[in-house]
Order: sequence, then structure tokens, then C-alpha cells
Amino acid sequence: MKNRINEILEGKRKYFTDIADYIWANPELAYREYKSAKALKDAMVECGFEVTENLAGIETAFKGQFGSGHPVIGFLGEFDALAGLSQESLNAEKCPIVPGAPGHGCGHNAIGTGCLAAAVAMKELMEEYKLPGTVIVYGCPAEEQGCGKSFMTREGVFSELDVALAPHPSDANNIMGVSMLANIQAEFTFYGQAAHAAAMPHMGRSALDAADLMIVGVQFLREHIVQEARIHHAYIDAGGTSPNVVQAQAKLLFYIRAPKGYQVKEIFARVQDVAKGAAIMTGTTWKCEIKSGMTDLLNNDVLGKVSEEAWAEVGETQFSEKAYEVAKLLAPAVGNPEAKDVLDKSVPKYVRIPVAMPGSTDVGDVSYVVPTVMYMYAAETKGTPGHSWQLVAQSGTELMHDGMMHNAKVMALVGMKLMQNPELVKQAKEEFDSYGVEYDCLIPDDVKPEAQAE
Ligand SMILES: [Zn+2]
Repeated sequence: MKNRINEILEGKRKYFTDIADYIWANPELAYREYKSAKALKDAMVECGFEVTENLAGIETAFKGQFGSGHPVIGFLGEFDALAGLSQESLNAEKCPIVPGAPGHGCGHNAIGTGCLAAAVAMKELMEEYKLPGTVIVYGCPAEEQGCGKSFMTREGVFSELDVALAPHPSDANNIMGVSMLANIQAEFTFYGQAAHAAAMPHMGRSALDAADLMIVGVQFLREHIVQEARIHHAYIDAGGTSPNVVQAQAKLLFYIRAPKGYQVKEIFARVQDVAKGAAIMTGTTWKCEIKSGMTDLLNNDVLGKVSEEAWAEVGETQFSEKAYEVAKLLAPAVGNPEAKDVLDKSVPKYVRIPVAMPGSTDVGDVSYVVPTVMYMYAAETKGTPGHSWQLVAQSGTELMHDGMMHNAKVMALVGMKLMQNPELVKQAKEEFDSYGVEYDCLIPDDVKPEAQAE
């Protein structure tokens, strides 16, 4: 099985790496990923998958499906880029292609593409072995800023699945046995009264003062929440650039994170109280709008162990000479001046550790409705920070290709093990059921996805 997967994927290698490179060269922001989505949809049709568009009413959410009946195995493919990270490929100096434009600083150009590659290998093998079952690749927009999968999960898109697989490039190989933080993203807007700041200050009510006081209040709140929680903010609107006008409006965006959704909700309620207090102190009014949210990530030991087995069979990541050249070129720019030990090709074990990594993913929502396994695969020089120009410089190169194709082989083998042994799928479901969790989407029903501003 492993050898056939290798043959199929190596035979189509350029087909897939060209798609990843095309998406890298056309970086698009949340819910505006039209070119990237089209490239993946066209490829799905070409590879014999039935495509459904506009999932959950989102223009850039789609799926490609092959086969029928159970098990139903789904891959979660992403393809969105990050704002302001434009960067030349293979340049170890910061050098944007278009200053201020987006760039693939998280390697998502390889995620949707790698998922498609894995599914194509599975399709061919299901045909060869005449196996029943369904394989679905989902085009999941807006992972970075907008939680596409949370909206899709809320609308029931993934309820058709028996198992979900979610890959992500990284600087190390890992089968995720840890959770990630649940998260609510909300905007707080304060409304005051404009007035001449020197001549008529008593007539003014400063929205900027309210925003500042809210930040101070949240700062004191941080000491009295669970240790693992994280709260951070950005000024979206500081009320203008004239100190001599009392600022009539100001807006803050807060991310509130904690290991579990109920903790996030509790802290969010207290942050709202802080906003209310800031408004009272300043004689302003305020409103709060939730923009998006995601749950924590549930692991599945059955899927983790099957993945460990499959990874061991596929073996270490086979990095080419060119991949090593890329890794060595970028190593000094990420704090490895001697460019030693630049790539992780190890075969990971699945280890469950009951902690939450200090980050969040919208794969979490999917993991609350279907047994899910998440992979991090090495495709970057060691030490590369996420969301960085250094990563953009590597994510459209042979280094990313090698990592992506290796992971596609692992995922295809995991998928085939599950297809050939439905008992494993049953066990994964039993484990999932044993958690007794209920999906509680942190995004209110009336909140819709919003395209990210250019
Ligand atoms: Zn990412």
C-alpha cells in the first residue's frame, strides 16, 4: 500500500507542487481567496472529484468528493494568506514583492494542495481495491482571521464525516496530542462627543479615554483569570490624528483565549464589564460585536495511534538537496547563523499531553463534531517563526514541496488504513463519544463571515 501511494504521488508530484506554487504566488486574504479556491476546484474536477461550491453560504468554501457510503473520511484544506507579509521567495533579507501586500507566512498554500494530493492517492487505491467509502477534500477559507471552519461547523458542513484529518506545515514533525486554546474575537466600540480639546474640553466626552481605560482595566483583570488564558488587543480606530479634537469614536479588537470554551465565555463577560466601567467613567457609550470564535482542540488517541503507525511505515521525510539548500539559506535569518541541523525529518510518536498550546485553530470546532487528528509536518528550516517573512521566503520552494508531499503520503496511508479497517473508525467514534462533549459554537448565530480588509 505504502509503495503504491508513493508511486501515485511521485508520478503526480509536479501537478501538485505547481498548484501550491500558484497559490503562493497569488496570496489572498480571508474570504477573498477566489484564485486559490478556483485553482483547487479546477484540480478537483480534473482529478475526478465531484465539486460542491458555496458551503455554509461562503463563496470560497467548497468540497470535492469521491466514492459513496462509509467510512467518510475528510481532509481539511486551507489556502488563505496573511496581511502585510509579501516577501520574495529564496531571499534571506526582508524584501517584499509588493510592500504591504499579503504573503503565505503560514504555508497554507501547501495545506489545501497536500490534502488534495492525499485524496487523489486514496481515490486511485479505492478504485484499485474496489473499496466502498467516501473521501472528501474541503476547501476551508479564512483560517487566519475569520475562522472559516467554525462557521462551516456551525452550519453542519462536517457532520457528514466519520473522521477528519487536518495537516499544517511547521518546522518539526508532530502528531498533535495536545489541545489548543478556545478563542473569542470581539470588537469594542466607544462613542463620545467631539469638542475643542483646549477651548471646550468640558463639552467633550473622549472615546479614546474609554478605550485606554478599558485596556488598563483588562490589564488588572489578567491577574485574576486562569493562568493559561490569554487576552490581547489592537486599536482598530484610535479616534483620529488630531489631539485638539476630543476623540468621538474609538474601537478595539480583543482576542480572549482560554483552554475551554466556557472559560472564554466567563472571561469575555468580565471583559464586557470592564468596557462598561470604562464607558461609565468617561461618559461615553459602547457596543461589543463578536467577530469570530473557535473552540479548543479535542484529540483522538485511536486516530493518533493509526497515524503513528502510518508515519512509521512511510518513514523519515525525504528532503532533497535543494530543500537543504533552502533551509541553510534561511537558517541565519531565523537565529541559526551556522546553519547546522536545519531540518527535522524524524518520525514522530503520538503522545497525548493534557495541556493546551498557546494558540488557537478553527480545526477545534471540527474536532467537536467528528473524531479529528491534526498533523504538523516539517517543511521549514528549524526555528522559523510562524507568520513571518522568513516563512514566506520558504513556503513556495522545494522545501515546502518535500514536506507537503511526504505528509500527503502519510495522510493517504492513514486514510487507507481506515478505509480497509472500519473497526478503527468505529473505535475512533467510540472514543469521541466517551468524551461526552457537546459542540457549543462560540460565534453567535447571527454573526456572519466578513471578508478581511485589503
Ligand atoms: Zn496556519
